[in-house]
Amino acid sequence: MEKKIPYKIYLSENEMPQYWYNVRADMKNKPAPLLNPKTHAPMTAEELEAVFCRELVQQELDDMNRQIPIPEEILDFYKMYRPAPLVRAYCLEKKLDTPAKIYYKFEGNNTSGSHKLNSAIAQAYYAKKQGLKGVTTETGAGQWGTALSMACSYFDLDCRVYMVKCSYEQKPFRREVMRTYGADVTPSPSETTEVGKQILAAHPGTGGSLGCAISEAVETATGTEGYRYVLGSVLNQVLLHQSVIGVETKTAMDKYGIKPDVIIGCAGGGSNLGGLISPFMGEKLRGEADYRFIAVEPASCPSLTRGRFAYDYCDTGMVCPLAKMYTLGSGFIPSANHAGGLRYHGMSSVLSQLYNDGLMEARSVTQTAVFDAAVQFARVEGILPAPESSHAIRIAIDEAMACRESGEEKTILFGLTGTGYFDMYAYEKYNNGDMSDYIPTDEDLKAGFDGLPQI
Ligand SMILES: *Cc1c(COP(=O)(O)O)cnc(C)c1O
Repeated sequence: MEKKIPYKIYLSENEMPQYWYNVRADMKNKPAPLLNPKTHAPMTAEELEAVFCRELVQQELDDMNRQIPIPEEILDFYKMYRPAPLVRAYCLEKKLDTPAKIYYKFEGNNTSGSHKLNSAIAQAYYAKKQGLKGVTTETGAGQWGTALSMACSYFDLDCRVYMVKCSYEQKPFRREVMRTYGADVTPSPSETTEVGKQILAAHPGTGGSLGCAISEAVETATGTEGYRYVLGSVLNQVLLHQSVIGVETKTAMDKYGIKPDVIIGCAGGGSNLGGLISPFMGEKLRGEADYRFIAVEPASCPSLTRGRFAYDYCDTGMVCPLAKMYTLGSGFIPSANHAGGLRYHGMSSVLSQLYNDGLMEARSVTQTAVFDAAVQFARVEGILPAPESSHAIRIAIDEAMACRESGEEKTILFGLTGTGYFDMYAYEKYNNGDMSDYIPTDEDLKAGFDGLPQI
């Protein structure tokens, strides 16, 4: 007999994931290795350990182990805000008058307001275990900095955050949340690092970028005894930690015999999308099931849909390892878009490889279309979504509307990565009709491509 499907599916304690799933183990074409920015040779574990925590380096390089057990201490922390609900968007379906079934996995139920806490707590745990004093990082919109501040205060670690200057000024309350959790927050670029001084000399008055803030955070970590650098997206280890989203979702769907036809997520550096799709992609890679996967990115920062698949610097100061990824070039500075979490020039190597192999699709959407979807969703489903998450909502609605045309009863799953309470400046612009769309021209993109390293 078919089980009655609750409108909100929560896993019980004994159903909670006990391991992260490493999709690289099932990939035939593995993501390309990180390269030393000076010698262009693959980075060794030893070299990486100068920048990153030891166990995280092992996870970064691990292309073989399918399941990585989640340490007890991290499981305990997850209990505070997980399981995340898998919600059937009945009201949205009704409003759209679609035969499609729409589900979303909601990751906004914690103070950081996003999925980023899933990896922040893991990274803080391994830093503590290694006996470190503290960690440094960058933050753009502020979600990652907030998540890491929470994780560091839990494990009693110092946390130094370089926050992109325009966000620091635009989102003073984000900054205060971080300080409340004990973090030290510096607007970037700053005079506190050599690379910050260089960037300020070259671009006086700049509002900064994620690439600049990363360079500053890395310089501080490598120059301070007992510190390492941690990153909130892009890296393999971050995708691995975020697989807790996908494993939970798949367990919940399997329990009720629900099979998604299409799985959608927004893509900044690729961690939430990578985490959500990982176990489903694993089945596809092993030939056990088929799904469509769609990455959604802003038209103003279209790394998958218009970028090059090439080795590139991960930061503006060119101090980080080189990664092979879809990229717009490390010198590309996207226009002021309100989805701060999607303004990174590159994309996770794992997702880049899967996309290049034709296993995943990508779409780009303009920000006014995204906010149309955000408002439509907020009014019927109650949750005020983050601008980043609303990229996924846009395409989920488009897919559901296509089902209305065709009469197909597809099951659509999307990742609702977070809430938008700190983005009211963006909503205000939209509500006032002052929001505009900027799509870079080929000429604009060329400048970024011209700066790609020759490898
Ligand atoms: C950071 C962020 C994203 C984008 O990051 P990914 O690494 O691509 O997942 C999406 N949504 C929210 C709410 C975020 O904070």
